[in-house]
Amino acid sequence: AQISQAEFVKSSVDTESCPADGAPEFALVGRSNVGKSSLLNSLVRRKKLALTSKKPGKTQCINHFRINDSWYLVDLPGFGYASAPKELRTDWAKFTKDYFLNRSTLVSVFLLIDASIPAKKIDLEYASWLGQNQIPMTLVFTKCDKRKKKKNGGKPPEENVQDFQELIQEFFQAAPPWIMTSSVTNQGRDEILLHMAQLRNY
Ligand code: GDP
Repeated sequence: AQISQAEFVKSSVDTESCPADGAPEFALVGRSNVGKSSLLNSLVRRKKLALTSKKPGKTQCINHFRINDSWYLVDLPGFGYASAPKELRTDWAKFTKDYFLNRSTLVSVFLLIDASIPAKKIDLEYASWLGQNQIPMTLVFTKCDKRKKKKNGGKPPEENVQDFQELIQEFFQAAPPWIMTSSVTNQGRDEILLHMAQLRNY
């Protein structure tokens, strides 16, 4: 399930302009600063690949990376970014929703959640939107290596993860799969790749 080849293919402004070869794909999405670029780079074991999509003007696009010449990792715009225009900050851009609802080759959305902090309202809203629209989702908890000092009132990542799952369960018929990760220790890296391989083979 390892990645031997990764190549940036294109940035698309809407679902129609995305690659049309029918290869299966997995979309990575999460709040800005959640650790999406770090995870993407840890998955492909190559520094700076994800940076291609961080070029000015590309961050608000659907960015396709072809993996092992047979499937795609898709980098979607981060949400909740404080300096983004209000309409981008408060809601997924229309094209992102359209992509989720209409991209037929989308196998699963990987929603990234920072496990080092308590659940954020915006993350709960996006998870519940995906659940209510029955879009296949995998929860990827990031920064699981980060532990706040107990005296600062911080909970360990395991507890934040459990709290998050409890808060969204009502929106899902079956609990979504979830993986705990760290781009610092590479925890969860193989688990993500194996999970993607299993989903592709269904
Ligand atoms: P993005 O905005 O979602 O692409 O987030 P980045 O990948 O740029 O990461 C945002 C910040 O979080 C950076 O300072 C990273 O060094 C840090 N970070 C990302 N992943 C991890 C992780 O797994 N553990 C820790 N401790 N820090 C992380």
